[in-house]
Formats: sequence, structure tokens, C-alpha cells
Amino acid sequence: MNNMSLDLLYRIVYSSDASRNASKRQNLTNIVFPRTPEEIAGIVRYCRKRGTPIYIKGAGTSLTGAGSPTGKGIMLSTEKMDRILNFSYVAGLIRTEAGISAARINDYLNEHSLFLPVFPASYKFSSIGGNISTNASGFEAGRFGGISNYLKSLRVITGKGEDLNIGAHCHRYSQGIDIKNLFIGSLGLLGIICETEFGVIPKPARIYEYIFRFRQLGPIFDLFFKMRRKGIHPVRFEIVNDTISTLLLNSNYYYIEIHADSSLFPGRSHLKFDRSSVSPMLSSVMPYKKSFDLSFDIEALPEFDALLKGMCTKHFLALYYGHFTDGIFHTSFLYDEKAVNIEKNVETVYNFIAKKRGAFSGEHGYGPGSKAIMRKALAGKLPYIRKIKSLFDPDNIMNRGLAL
Ligand SMILES: Cc1cc2nc3c(=O)[nH]c(=O)nc-3n(C[C@H](O)[C@H](O)[C@H](O)COP(=O)(O)OP(=O)(O)OC[C@H]3O[C@@H](n4cnc5c(N)ncnc54)[C@H](O)[C@@H]3O)c2cc1C
Repeated sequence: MNNMSLDLLYRIVYSSDASRNASKRQNLTNIVFPRTPEEIAGIVRYCRKRGTPIYIKGAGTSLTGAGSPTGKGIMLSTEKMDRILNFSYVAGLIRTEAGISAARINDYLNEHSLFLPVFPASYKFSSIGGNISTNASGFEAGRFGGISNYLKSLRVITGKGEDLNIGAHCHRYSQGIDIKNLFIGSLGLLGIICETEFGVIPKPARIYEYIFRFRQLGPIFDLFFKMRRKGIHPVRFEIVNDTISTLLLNSNYYYIEIHADSSLFPGRSHLKFDRSSVSPMLSSVMPYKKSFDLSFDIEALPEFDALLKGMCTKHFLALYYGHFTDGIFHTSFLYDEKAVNIEKNVETVYNFIAKKRGAFSGEHGYGPGSKAIMRKALAGKLPYIRKIKSLFDPDNIMNRGLAL
């Protein structure tokens, strides 16, 4: 196979991702760009014999550093595996390679008035293999459900170098434990996803887009419940909190972006707010940033909102934005050198999530920097998680350093 690079520039670029959690470029001895599952199986078997760790990169848009090397090893990129392999219009099933983006899958399906509702804000450039590995669901999951609702089968190369077809080429599956679901959110710890197969659904006929702003949370809940009572289930219902709009727009409002397939009000909204750009824009506000993608019962949002407001000082800001309907709130701490109580504030957020029986990550997964918190959150389940990992990857060569 000639798809590999030892080039210094490549080693620098592939040592980091969108989390800016770069590791030392010296860690990567090689970057490989396989094109087939057979090539991947060969690489895994070669590395397993030598005990060489393999780090897996989709498009590198992880916000947690999950795919960045934590020690010496090779980087395996799926970026050259980006083809649509099979599409059955009648069955509503599409099979692709793992390196393709959800945007390209949807461009293809669009011609047939079908779609796959996988829409993380990064959907134009993140890979579908990365989306499965992080359980990324994004904007429209509150209405259509997450990636697990659509995933039908996978072809994976395990950490042992075995080539497995899991799930089936059909919509329903009830043959005991469904192994393919173990790969959803598995962060490359069990093996490499090479091919994916999804069930797709008809595209909503027309989408109406609205942006509203509110001074308080109460009226947002009123609007949400009113829509529910009228049987309107928006395709998107995004929230950006008032601290963010103060920073980015100089206006102290909560912003709500709604996409619905029925008209809520005559006319279009005149407000402008680009929700997708919030994450990158926040990166430059303060020198330091800690991010969590918390998930909890939306009824607890007013309490959470007050909790974060109570933490804010001149040197420390706590803010959130995210997917209101399914209660995923991307939360960031932005701070400078003079900030105090940072770890105490992390602990406070952790305790809030634990008390509400929510999740510390709803869709991004975790990275080397958040392992300690994950270990705490998953305490009783760790023996099961470790056994599953060792079944697929007994020598711990897949994304070594990330296992709990
Ligand atoms: C501007 C921006 C907005 C974002 N918005 C959202 C959002 O709304 N919702 C959301 O959920 N996420 C969001 N993200 C985070 C990120 O895009 C997702 O986590 C995405 O799913 C990562 O896909 P990727 O291809 O870039 O994976 P990578 O970053 O390359 O890898 C992520 C993890 O998956 C593993 N992996 C990748 N491909 C494979 C494979 N084929 N087989 C096995 N393991 C693999 C990697 O080893 C790593 O552990 C955003 C990121 C950015 C930069």
C-alpha cells in the first residue's frame, strides 16, 4: 500500500483535532490512508504483532481530543474511504464507506427526496464513521431521533484484525444482543468502522425557519409547550443563552432558532443569528476554555441556568447553547489567568448532572482530558466496559490512552 506519509507537516496536522488538544508530533511515526477494509485488516494485524498503537482519525473535528495520539503509534485516517457503495430507493437503505460526510450522503439522497437526519453542526465536514463513534446526533435528533435509530449495519475491523459484518441489510433486527450498537459512541476503542449502512426517511416537504429572542427562560418553555399542544414538533429547536449573546452580539437575550415543517407565524423571521458558528466564535473570547456537552431533563434548565450565572465573574464565564428539545447543552467555561475556583466549578457541574441522573456527554464523547470525570460517572459499569474492550481489542492497540 502506498497511501502513507512520514512527512513532518502531516505529523503535526494529524497530531491534533478541533479540540486543539495537540499531542507531540514526535508521537506519530506514520500516517496511513487505507482505501479498503482488507488494507485496514492488514495494518491492524501488522501493528498488533508489534504492539504498535493505532490512533483513528475521521475528519478530526472532535471537540474532546478523542482521536489525538496520547503516545507513540501510527495514525490511521479514513479520509480516502468516502464512497457511496449501494443505495436501494425501494428499501430505503444506503451503504457507504466510513470517511464520507453526512452532508454528502444527504446531497445524494436529496435527489430522491429522502434524507438521513444526522446533523451535528459539523455535518458538512465530519465523517459518518466519526459521527457513529461519538454518537453525534446534532440539530434534528429531538424530532427524528439519534444516529442509533437509523444505523442498520456496519463492517468493522476489530483490534484483533478480524473483519466483522454486524447488524443486517434490513430495517429491523431482533437476533439477541445487537453488537453493532456497541460501536455507537465507542470512540474507536473497539476497532475501525469501515462501512456503514443506514435506513433513510422521506425529506420533510418544506422547512420554515424562525429566530426569536427572549429576555427570560420562562416564555421559551411556554412557546415550547404551546407548540407541543398544537402537535407541532419542530425539526430544530436550538437555544443560545444570554451570556453568549452578550459576548457575541452585545445584546442580552436568549436566542431560539426553530425549524418547523409547518408554519408557526406568517412571514419570515428578520433576526439573524448563526447558531453553527457559536462554538468556533467562543474560542477566541478568553485565553482558556473548558467544554462539556451535558445532557439532562430540560425541566432542570432554569436551575442549571441560575447555577452557571452564579459562577460568572470578570475573569470566569460559564455559558451554554444547544439542542433544547433533547436537552443537550454545550457548556463552556471561559477564563483568564486571574480566574479562581475552576475545578470547584467543574465539581459543581458534575454534582448537578449526577443529581439529575443526566449524562456528562450527550454527543461528543470524552477525551484524554475528561477521562477522570468519565471514570467517576461510570464507576459501577467500568468492569463491563473493560471486558467489552478486551474482547474486541485484547492488546489495547486502538486509541491507546483513551480506555477507561
Ligand atoms: C464547529 C463544530 C461543531 C460541532 N457540532 C457538533 C454537534 O452539533 N453535535 C455533535 O455531536 N458534535 C459536534 N461537533 C463535534 C464533532 O464534529 C463530532 O464529534 C463528529 O462526530 C466527529 O467526527 P470526525 O469524523 O471529525 O471524527 P474525529 O474527530 O476524527 O474522531 C472522533 C472520534 O471517533 C473515532 N473515529 C473516527 N472515525 C472512526 C472510524 N471510522 N472508526 C472508529 N473510530 C473512529 C476517533 O478515533 C475519535 O475517537 C462539532 C465540532 C465542530 C468543530
